[in-house]
Amino acid sequence: MKEKIVIVGAGVSGLVAAINLEKAGFKPIVIDQSDRVGGRVKTDYRDGLQFDHGFQVLLKKYPAAVKYLDYDLLELQDFYPGSCIFYKQSKFTIGDPSRKSSLLFPTIFAKIGSVSDKWKVLQLSNAVKKKSFDDIFLAPEQTTLAYLQNKGFSDEIIQKFFKPFFTGIFLEDELSTSSRKFEFVYKMFAEGNAAIPKKGIQAIPNQLAAQLKQTQFEFNMKVAEIKDQELILENKKKIPYDYAIIAAEAWPLISNLKNQESKWKSVENLYFEVKNKVIDKPLIGLVADEAALINNIHYQNIKDTNHFLLSVSVVKLHHLNKDDLIKQVEKELQTYCGIESVEFKRYYKIKKALPVMYTVNYMMPPSETQLKDRVFLAGDQLSNGSLNAAMLNGESAARAVIAKIKDGFININ
Ligand SMILES: Cc1cc2nc3c(=O)[nH]c(=O)nc-3n(C[C@H](O)[C@H](O)[C@H](O)COP(=O)(O)OP(=O)(O)OC[C@H]3O[C@@H](n4cnc5c(N)ncnc54)[C@H](O)[C@@H]3O)c2cc1C
Repeated sequence: MKEKIVIVGAGVSGLVAAINLEKAGFKPIVIDQSDRVGGRVKTDYRDGLQFDHGFQVLLKKYPAAVKYLDYDLLELQDFYPGSCIFYKQSKFTIGDPSRKSSLLFPTIFAKIGSVSDKWKVLQLSNAVKKKSFDDIFLAPEQTTLAYLQNKGFSDEIIQKFFKPFFTGIFLEDELSTSSRKFEFVYKMFAEGNAAIPKKGIQAIPNQLAAQLKQTQFEFNMKVAEIKDQELILENKKKIPYDYAIIAAEAWPLISNLKNQESKWKSVENLYFEVKNKVIDKPLIGLVADEAALINNIHYQNIKDTNHFLLSVSVVKLHHLNKDDLIKQVEKELQTYCGIESVEFKRYYKIKKALPVMYTVNYMMPPSETQLKDRVFLAGDQLSNGSLNAAMLNGESAARAVIAKIKDGFININ
């Protein structure tokens, strides 16, 4: 096929768009301002340690992930379906005993909410499992907090379980995120495990990129503007194109979108080397004390040693500089989790982690990805901040371009 198709963005969405274009016989060009594939899904490898840029997990039941990824090759390291909750110097485990029987007794005896709350947690799992994505994403939206209150959950279980758990996922601590996103994530957690590839989260985009044989990659190239059939790079170089897919923020690149700047949620991620674990099972640790800056922790084994790499996420906003934050987190690890003698390793601040979205949908249908005659949009920010949405929207944009080239119009949804 002779059409020149450029994709701006080598994140998960741009890579899935390229996979679909290659399958249809095209040879796309992927341009990215950074030095490698992955976008927000990156891992640094230093001194035998792996540092993901922010704690993130693959929910194994994501339909798009099942379609595009080979889980065996990723050597996924599963978390148990539950959490270890630190609250007022005590530690409780709560989880889904129907999927991991060893979580039954700890869950029953955890001093987190009433028996009725725990029963409702299970009922909610069963209810969302039965819902289709349409049921979830066509339902009226309310905040997650209002949704949980309307379902009759007590303030205690909201404070000690839902808030810390979903703060780490939504990257905001007021549960103001749409109830649609809540139900979607809850369904994915209820139906399958969360996991991280053995070689870090970067293994996901690496595996997508490895599927591309006809695609040309251009790294360290920032696109400054997209005009009709011409990309202008920051270094003023011009690249002609027939069709463009913007798998990145579009507003800085298109002149009439300049007033539509997107807002983002941020997160900080600190890594420490430790000699012992305070969570013996593969569970995500949550700090439920309201005063704490720490939201979640989890351990990674360090190859060929008996030490561990502890990842700590801070979602709450604060006024500390980096050094004071490290000191504060070390203090909190000791106070709230009983973790002592930590050796600081690395710090990340991810300013643009998740897009702020007041309304969310499952995916953007192909017909709605077209911005201009020859310019199409992809990326998670069209639907909801997740790997699943990023992949599905990459696929949609590619299908729209293919239809436009082959049929002259986009007749697919
Ligand atoms: C800390 C964190 C935790 C997360 N947790 C989860 C989780 O647990 N589960 C989950 O499903 N999702 C999670 N996510 C969200 C998930 O990572 C994103 O939904 C997904 O990576 C978005 O992919 P994308 O391709 O749409 O965008 P991006 O990954 O942002 O890709 C956009 C690409 O475009 C490039 N680019 C931008 N502008 C330009 C330009 N002008 N010129 C050239 N290149 C440009 C960027 O360099 C980037 O590579 C998390 C994200 C973060 C950051």
